[in-house]
Amino acid sequence: MSIIKINNTQEFQDLAKASSDYFVLDFYADWCGPCKIMTPIFERLSLAQEFSEFKFAKIDRDQNIDLIDTFGFHIKSIPQFVLVKFNADGNFSEINIIDYLGGTQSKTDMSLKLSELALNNNINLTETALNNNHNNMHENKQKVAIIGSGPSGLTAAIYTSRAQLDTTIYLGLQPGGQLTTTTEIENFPGAWNPETKEGMMGPDLMSLIQKQAENFGAKSILDQVTSLIVGKNTYGKPEFTVKTSASESKFDAVIIASGASARYLGIEGEEKFIGKGYHSCATCDGFFYRGKTVAIVGGGDSSMEEANFLTKFAKKVVIIHRRAEFRASKIMLERAQNNPKIEFLLFKKIVEFNGDKKVESVTLEDTKTGEKSDFPLDGVFVAIGHNPNTEFLGDLLDKDNAGYLIPQSRIPQDLKTSKYSMATKVEGVFVAGDVEDKTYRQAITAAGDGCRAAMDTEKWLEEIS
Ligand code: FAD
Ligand code: NAP
Repeated sequence: MSIIKINNTQEFQDLAKASSDYFVLDFYADWCGPCKIMTPIFERLSLAQEFSEFKFAKIDRDQNIDLIDTFGFHIKSIPQFVLVKFNADGNFSEINIIDYLGGTQSKTDMSLKLSELALNNNINLTETALNNNHNNMHENKQKVAIIGSGPSGLTAAIYTSRAQLDTTIYLGLQPGGQLTTTTEIENFPGAWNPETKEGMMGPDLMSLIQKQAENFGAKSILDQVTSLIVGKNTYGKPEFTVKTSASESKFDAVIIASGASARYLGIEGEEKFIGKGYHSCATCDGFFYRGKTVAIVGGGDSSMEEANFLTKFAKKVVIIHRRAEFRASKIMLERAQNNPKIEFLLFKKIVEFNGDKKVESVTLEDTKTGEKSDFPLDGVFVAIGHNPNTEFLGDLLDKDNAGYLIPQSRIPQDLKTSKYSMATKVEGVFVAGDVEDKTYRQAITAAGDGCRAAMDTEKWLEEIS
């Protein structure tokens, strides 16, 4: 069905007289950005089989003020889609403005609204056309798998499920992600109580975000993905099989949000102290050590950076490193060496954490002599690297030297051609959060990436549908 362009009141009247059909009118203006975004969606709706009984027409709002006034269209904003019914006798005075549709929405969203509108208004479409359309909207919703339930995965799920995509979140072994291993989160915008001046507890924040996603229809599966297989469906479009040890399901698109795990030291019994004097994120937990003595383990840039950061709060920061050479860059090392609050303990490694409910001291071992000593302190931060969680992907996607996934938009030679910021080299697979970000590694940046990946996914699915 081609789209009719109505240029003036006369053309509109002629059309009305000649037709007793339902019309979807698109009120637009040349200067209106959202109108341009909606144009291809309007075009695709006009071609959709399920709306073959509708006619589609465009009306330039600025050129047709008289027409709008004459027929009482209440065009408050554009783009505005209006569904009208011309009476059999072509009598314009009885134009039935059934409802308004508008805003920058996806084709699926618009189709669903249009068919529900038809149903609610008992529009006399053939029953089958209407039922098919209505059922298809629900049964044939495009399916998206989100692997990971940290801030990136859950934010992506809010966006995809809100965009009417059938969303399944694989929660993994750590539902809620890294933030569930910590206490108070003070730097997540909005998750803050103005009366107590306190942030939210990590697990509470994550459980709230999960509920928000589920409220929009996302389904959660408490399972770990073991593999992702790329194939094609019967129409030749990409299809992804997500396998866990208990299930195997097919999806139209996948968002990988499996995060990264901070490396801990691997000392026996250390789990008991994680979050209780034993931390992996100084930006996150350093604040709790105001006026205290803390240690940071590692000799890389992260250790130097985090040690400097910790001096904002702690009275003393001790860098514990297992040798005298450093991986840290000269400038970062010198900055730490010149900081009067930082001391270095070289040729030492922690072999035991001591304390009742939280860390009170560590047992150090001299890496040259093997001699052991007790070192009292209030907290230990490790900065010995992170491991991105990508084992289940094998070699499917591009990784950097440290094993982090690389979106195509960050590969210099693909920069110009990559349309989607979070797409990977496998069409239909998108990435978000710490699994692709070794620089910022914050909940809010991961959530932002999740939003980007979800919007990319939605646009890509729209493009191939
Ligand atoms: P993650 O939170 O790492 O989540 C990854 C998810 O993927 C998990 O749900 C996991 O179960 C799942 N997963 C992994 N593999 C699979 C698989 N094979 N199948 C299915 N699921 C899988 N940031 C802040 O902004 N503020 C803070 O105060 C703060 N505090 C922190 C405190 C600690 C102790 C730590 C460790 C980090 C802290 N961070 C903080 C950093 C923040 O937690 C991370 O940047 C953020 O969680 C990254 O989110 P993500 O969604 O990318 O991944
Ligand atoms: P890194 O450079 O790999 O350093 C890790 C450090 O941890 C090393 O000193 C290593 O000791 C030590 N270590 C590893 N395992 C250990 C263990 N089990 N016990 C005790 N010590 C252990 O990692 P990073 O510091 O996280 O840096 C990663 C990358 O990010 C680097 O490229 C870095 O330049 C970059 N970065 C840059 C900045 C910046 O420019 N501002 C800040 C942070 C990070 P050994 O040396 O003995 O192996």
